[in-house]
Amino acid sequence: MEFVEARLASLPQKICEFCGKSSWDTKTLSCIKCKTIYSKSDFQNLSNLYTAASSEHYVDIRYRNWFERVEAYEGILLDLIDRHAVTTAVDIGCGPNRLLEHCKNKREHLSIRGYDLYTREENICQHNFEKHPIPYDDFPASLSVCSHVLEHIENLHDIIEQMLNNSECVFVAIPNPLFYKTLMKSSVGMELGGLEGLPYSRPMDRHRWMYTVKEANGLMEHMAGKHSRSLEIYYAAPNLYALLARVNRNLFVNEMIYVFSRH
Ligand SMILES: [Zn+2]
Repeated sequence: MEFVEARLASLPQKICEFCGKSSWDTKTLSCIKCKTIYSKSDFQNLSNLYTAASSEHYVDIRYRNWFERVEAYEGILLDLIDRHAVTTAVDIGCGPNRLLEHCKNKREHLSIRGYDLYTREENICQHNFEKHPIPYDDFPASLSVCSHVLEHIENLHDIIEQMLNNSECVFVAIPNPLFYKTLMKSSVGMELGGLEGLPYSRPMDRHRWMYTVKEANGLMEHMAGKHSRSLEIYYAAPNLYALLARVNRNLFVNEMIYVFSRH
């Protein structure tokens, strides 16, 4: 028994290339989630799963619209900019680029650029993240921010890798799609809406990923470990949710903010 456990402990954790999970029957080298069976050599060639220690904070972030969201993120972003002496920043999927504009108003030395699929204003560079890599060669940035965008992107894993490969600090905000309100809507037969539900025709934009808070944390800890960063997790849970979220964060955390930085 001891011998078997020692053998299992010595196996590196691998990521199934078919389903992207890491849950193994180590006797048969088969993925427990999707049942794919690997040969020993194929298994060895799979990507490694990493992990990193993270620190967790509950924050009373509340906003009624996107304008207020910019101010709600201010404390975390400016602290990151000051701690790591950030001078250049890009916003991946910036919308009207208010997040970095707001930071620049408070920290004038910042040089900023916003990328978005749609250009609404002059200070935005049009860019399709699904088709082309983020042009860090053209505008190097020690901070990348990506707010409520990853969940809309098919290749979100690649976008996270690009940001961590090129920026010392990365700020990511994503919603909790299984939040109480979504489950509540389902339980009383309300529509989930175009972003998460099933509309009559294919929408131009939608949330492409459904995940629990724990799953999102697992992905971000993997990315932090892989890219040798420390990870701070902020759980946004305002008002009454601040208490409920501590009991069940998968249900009651409103959104998650992940801050990656060098140790
Ligand atoms: Zn699998």
